[in-house]
Amino acid sequence: MIVMKFGGTSVGSKEAIARTVGIVRSKQEERPVLVVSAMSKVTDMLYAISDAIEAGNSEAADSALVQLRQKHLETAAMLMPSDPLWREEAYSRINSICDGLKAFADAQLASGEKMTSKEKAVINSKGEYLSSNMICCYMNSIGMKTTWVDAREFMVTDNDYLQGIPDMAEIERQCPKVIDAAFATSAFVITQGFVCKAADGSEAVLGRGGSDYSASLIGMAIDAAKIEIWTDVDGVQSADPRRVTNTRRISRISFEEAAEMAAYGAKVLHPKTIEPAIAKNIPVLVLNSMNPEGKGTVILQSSFIEDGVRSVSSKEKLRLITVSQPVMKDASSLLTRIFAVFAEARVKVDLVKVSPTSIMVTTDSVDYVPAAVEAISEFASVKVEEDMAQISVIGKNISELKVALKTASDQLRDSRLVSVAQNDTYVNISFVVPLSTVRDDVQKIHTYLFGREE
Ligand code: ADP
Ligand code: ASP
Ligand code: MG
Repeated sequence: MIVMKFGGTSVGSKEAIARTVGIVRSKQEERPVLVVSAMSKVTDMLYAISDAIEAGNSEAADSALVQLRQKHLETAAMLMPSDPLWREEAYSRINSICDGLKAFADAQLASGEKMTSKEKAVINSKGEYLSSNMICCYMNSIGMKTTWVDAREFMVTDNDYLQGIPDMAEIERQCPKVIDAAFATSAFVITQGFVCKAADGSEAVLGRGGSDYSASLIGMAIDAAKIEIWTDVDGVQSADPRRVTNTRRISRISFEEAAEMAAYGAKVLHPKTIEPAIAKNIPVLVLNSMNPEGKGTVILQSSFIEDGVRSVSSKEKLRLITVSQPVMKDASSLLTRIFAVFAEARVKVDLVKVSPTSIMVTTDSVDYVPAAVEAISEFASVKVEEDMAQISVIGKNISELKVALKTASDQLRDSRLVSVAQNDTYVNISFVVPLSTVRDDVQKIHTYLFGREE
């Protein structure tokens, strides 16, 4: 079996769905489990509906709900113009999901209360129900015998409804049973990405971009031969091709480098995607559904990967928190106290730099920072700088590091924090820079490391 995950743009229109399904058909022999995202922009719409309900704006919520239904009914009509049976089945599934959503939204609006994250998850998860059901009907309509399975039957998490943490053992127990049963009567299996079930049985989601993570968790659970992440770029590139010119496709990269890239801003993979694949040593391929002949990227064990600088990625809108003590007698006790505060306040720390008089960290947590700052200011002085960004150069092998480090720092006008992390399988050099210069800075570093702009 293999897992094939298709992101929002790969299922974003009638044409994209037809192309995607063609790719899946060509892999029938490999018994593909299809994991799909919501059609592109749909999850954004659902989050906007949650916000509109929260703000008591029933007009905005209603009009978005109508649009959502329309978009799926129209796409289903275009996909199945001459198969009334499966088209009606798709309409009925779409209408039933949209009716449920409308009733839920009305009840929330009527209650006039602030929505909990549990209630938001009920709304935000629905894009994947719609896309997967519609595509399932389309596949059957063109003679591909396909079973839809509900991810909630096996994708069990904790009780964080909007950023569920998977219960790996339970997923490994449940998922193979569900998938095997579906393959007993079908050639293809399809399920929702992103969707999970919280430990208390409520509907939940894995966090934005989480369908990649769904795919790798399923791959791990069923011991898939490979996990294919089909997206809208020719594999993992040396930088985000939407922001940097002249990027190069990376043909092979190690699990660790890919995980570092994803954690440090490369949106092409959800940051947690690699973890389940490493657990079972399953190759992950990143491929372009708009260019299925392309070679894409293979993510493998580090021993198969040559040395070298692989990529430059960036993360924007960070806060830089500097905690200082005039004479830091004991850095470890200050670190312990600061990190206890961050953990308590749920501030997710990214980079850390310790000097004799200060400790600097970056974070993308927004809401929780003020409480943490207040608590720290009781025992040390603390400063928060907003509008910061960070750039990370990632690769393998220490000798390359020296060149990259010098190169990168030569390119930066105003770098505030340099952090170097390395082990046998990867090197990550990160710089904190002002948000106002980050795009230029990334381009400069990339050009220097990978070749000139044309
Ligand atoms: P999907 O909807 O298929 O999950 P995403 O939008 O989440 O697609 O991810 C693909 C996008 O990731 C690309 O269009 C690209 O702009 C962005 N991206 C960021 N960094 C990289 C990188 N290093 N290589 C390739 N794509 C990247
Ligand atoms: N649809 C979800 C999102 O837009 C999950 C995903 O696409 O991976 O975040
Ligand atoms: Mg994505």
